Amino acid sequence: MELPSVPPVASTIADPKCSRCSRLPATQGRKTCEPCRIKHNEAFRRWRNKKIQQKQDAEKTDPIVTGKRSFDQMDPPSVTSESSKRPKLQALNNSVISNTEPPQTNPHFQKFTWASELYAELRKQYAARSEKKTFRFRGTHSIIADPTINNKRRARAAERDLKTHSGLKFKLLDRAKHREDDAYTITHRCSCLPTGCSGSIVIRVSDDHSHPLGWLGQRINIAVIHPKS
Ligand SMILES: [Zn+2]
Ligand SMILES: [Zn+2]
Repeated sequence: MELPSVPPVASTIADPKCSRCSRLPATQGRKTCEPCRIKHNEAFRRWRNKKIQQKQDAEKTDPIVTGKRSFDQMDPPSVTSESSKRPKLQALNNSVISNTEPPQTNPHFQKFTWASELYAELRKQYAARSEKKTFRFRGTHSIIADPTINNKRRARAAERDLKTHSGLKFKLLDRAKHREDDAYTITHRCSCLPTGCSGSIVIRVSDDHSHPLGWLGQRINIAVIHPKS
């Protein structure tokens, strides 16, 4: 039996349409076309360049590197020639969220403004957990995306922060990982017992298109489950 030949990428009429403009085909294995990706990123990028030095300075002095810049607390960029594009970006984002992508924030995840708050709360709850009940924690926060830190690198950074700040026990090198188009997930088994424990720690970092002004963010979701003893 002969395998079907792979059609050339550029000529496939079956290419899925861009999830933002619904006109051009999505390219490079993404959900969007290249013009849309460029458009989506350029407004925030101009503004980000002005802020990036400030961000780096802030991170140098912060013990928790990830999530120093909260997505939910950003000052808006100055309104210039961008203003005419904004309603369009906003409308496109809304359509993306409502039609083709899962919600950016799962309602079961407790929202935090800062990574440090999330880790502190997790640490507190985990330390105070009852041995008689299954422990569950779901926390999320969102930051403005830094193009030099992709979802994988962000997940690795969150992993290190969890290791340092949460009180959870896991072995860094025993991670299981899963890559998606717009997300990266790291899963760990709890290592509290030498004989093995069914507890799990899941770190998921995904593109966050939820901002009304169209800035690209990164959402960090942390989910922990630990069995009763
Ligand atoms: Zn498009
Ligand atoms: Zn455990």
